[in-house]
Amino acid sequence: MRYAVGLDIGGSWIRGALGDQSGRLSRRSVQRVVQGSGDRFVSQAIGIIKEVSIGVANDVEGIGVGAAGRIDIRRGSIEFSPHASLSSVPLKDAIEAEFSKPAVVLNDCVAAAVAEGVVGAGKGIGNLVYVGIGTGIGAGIMVDGRILLGKDGNAHEVGHMIIDLEGRLECNCGGKGHWEAYTSGSGIPKYAKYLSNGFSGVSSLVDIIKAGGKEIEAKEIFTAAYEGDPFAEYVINEAAGINAKAFANIVNLYDPELITVGGGLALKNPSLTVLPIAEMIPHLCFNVPPRVALTPLGEDAPLVGAVLSAFDSVRSELIPQL
Ligand SMILES: [Zn+2]
Repeated sequence: MRYAVGLDIGGSWIRGALGDQSGRLSRRSVQRVVQGSGDRFVSQAIGIIKEVSIGVANDVEGIGVGAAGRIDIRRGSIEFSPHASLSSVPLKDAIEAEFSKPAVVLNDCVAAAVAEGVVGAGKGIGNLVYVGIGTGIGAGIMVDGRILLGKDGNAHEVGHMIIDLEGRLECNCGGKGHWEAYTSGSGIPKYAKYLSNGFSGVSSLVDIIKAGGKEIEAKEIFTAAYEGDPFAEYVINEAAGINAKAFANIVNLYDPELITVGGGLALKNPSLTVLPIAEMIPHLCFNVPPRVALTPLGEDAPLVGAVLSAFDSVRSELIPQL
């Protein structure tokens, strides 16, 4: 049996797993990202790889990493992560030096797109996009059977596309008017605060925002919307409109047959996120609209993709440019 180790590195958590070529995960490990230096972070990642491969290390073909943030795919480094405050971490070199096995470092949503294409809803589909709506917004893009990379491996940074020409809200990356600043898990509370200024109806959510004491969270906005709070419903509708326009941009740029959606915010609230996008994009895009669906791989999509992309056979077919 051949195995690979996958790591999914998010803003707060590192998740590791041992898996096989069918994308089945066996041993898992989850740890909170250690803050501090890049060295400490690398040691933590190496520790997780050792932990999940104990006893079968000789049968491990390679190590795949899906990491949130901007990466340099050829160096295999995490260049900038707005959530985990990492910069220029040479993860691929460190892993290869430690284990003497090939390692690949992809963006987490690119890894998820690999998973979707090989074992998920995109099996046999050469043109697909995976969009993750969680703390941030990211994507992985497959065109004509190949994952798009770009000069540094970042040809998919849809969350930082400018959707507000007035740039009213600032993004986690420091840019203005970027999509994820409005409708991601970290963005929607800021967007709600902005919209509350012009809202004159009765809403307990607006009362909380205006009282100022604590920052509201995305979860509270969605809960209030489910309970019928008119302001929360208004915020969710505005956010859905922005999401649909951003999806229409993606459709017009990449002409996918399928867009699958993952990420914590979408997975927890599909009826208020994915469903309205699917309903609206036929009216917004120039190209023939694709199918839009929640990913069947759930929150494991990036981890499964990290495992799969460590197999030479998968990598040489889907990412031959690497
Ligand atoms: Zn940004």
